[in-house]
Amino acid sequence: MDTKKFKIGWIGLGKMGVPMAKQVLKAGYPVRVYNRSSEKNKKLETEGATSAESIKELVDETEVIFIMVSDNDAVKDVFNQADGILSSEIANKIFINASTIAPEVSVEISKQIEVKGGFYLDAPVSGSVKQAEEMTLVSIVGGSKEIFEKTASLLKSYSKKAIYVGENGVGNSAKLAVNTYLGIVTQGLAEIIQFSKTKNVETADLMDIINNSALGSTFGKMKGESAMKENFEAAFTLAHLTKDLRLAQQSGFNKPLGNAAYKTFSDAEAELGEEDVIAIIKKL
Ligand code: NAP
Repeated sequence: MDTKKFKIGWIGLGKMGVPMAKQVLKAGYPVRVYNRSSEKNKKLETEGATSAESIKELVDETEVIFIMVSDNDAVKDVFNQADGILSSEIANKIFINASTIAPEVSVEISKQIEVKGGFYLDAPVSGSVKQAEEMTLVSIVGGSKEIFEKTASLLKSYSKKAIYVGENGVGNSAKLAVNTYLGIVTQGLAEIIQFSKTKNVETADLMDIINNSALGSTFGKMKGESAMKENFEAAFTLAHLTKDLRLAQQSGFNKPLGNAAYKTFSDAEAELGEEDVIAIIKKL
């Protein structure tokens, strides 16, 4: 089937949903959007998308529906609310959930979708707003391999790579592993910046050393720069990272560094939750 003919629905126009949906539009797919706060729909309408007034309307009129919302509760709402996804006829429709949620929730939803004749992929992404804007996210996909293959070119409209990792829920588990690493690295970077300052090492020099060594990374460059400029405007909120560390713990993660990162971020969540993850530096 020519996948370019898929009519696309997009639910969730937050920090990530907006640039990702824009990439799908740019790739030539017709896109219909829905966001709980409808004023955000305009960000996509100006790019050529149409808006739906309800999730039900969006699902009724599209074939492949992306979901990019905050967390377990938001995803459950989108599927189960009175005019949510499960209120529609969904036979043969494909649901691609890019939100970072618990593997167990994906498994539960995939079964609800399957009973009604639809298909579900968990497809969380690694990368942030910048990567979404540059089409360099990595999609981590769990579910039917056949459906993955059918939608791979669509996933590649916003990802540099889409990696199939196994059955439903496995995509979410892989993502939680990656974000636990992200939490450990963020805390590590923040700690050594603080330590270096007390030893009269300029943060700019420290980052110059790291970025020119084997430890250099895109993430380190971005977050080192934010730390230097004390710019804590969120690309990835500290609250969302804490949510991911918590989900990993609930999924059985129990190792010294990840546990420590979870404690550090959850202690800071009430105060710094809406700031970027690197704002953790203010707490150390
Ligand atoms: P965000 O900016 O906070 O946006 C959240 C979106 O979820 C908004 O569209 C919001 O709608 C919607 N939402 C929340 N609760 C809802 C509900 N009960 N019903 C319907 N819609 C609801 O979040 P984000 O940064 O785009 O992140 C989205 C997901 O991607 C999260 O799972 C996050 O962990 C993951 N992620 C984020 C990043 C990143 O760098 N930001 C990177 C990779 C993965 P309203 O506009 O109405 O509030």
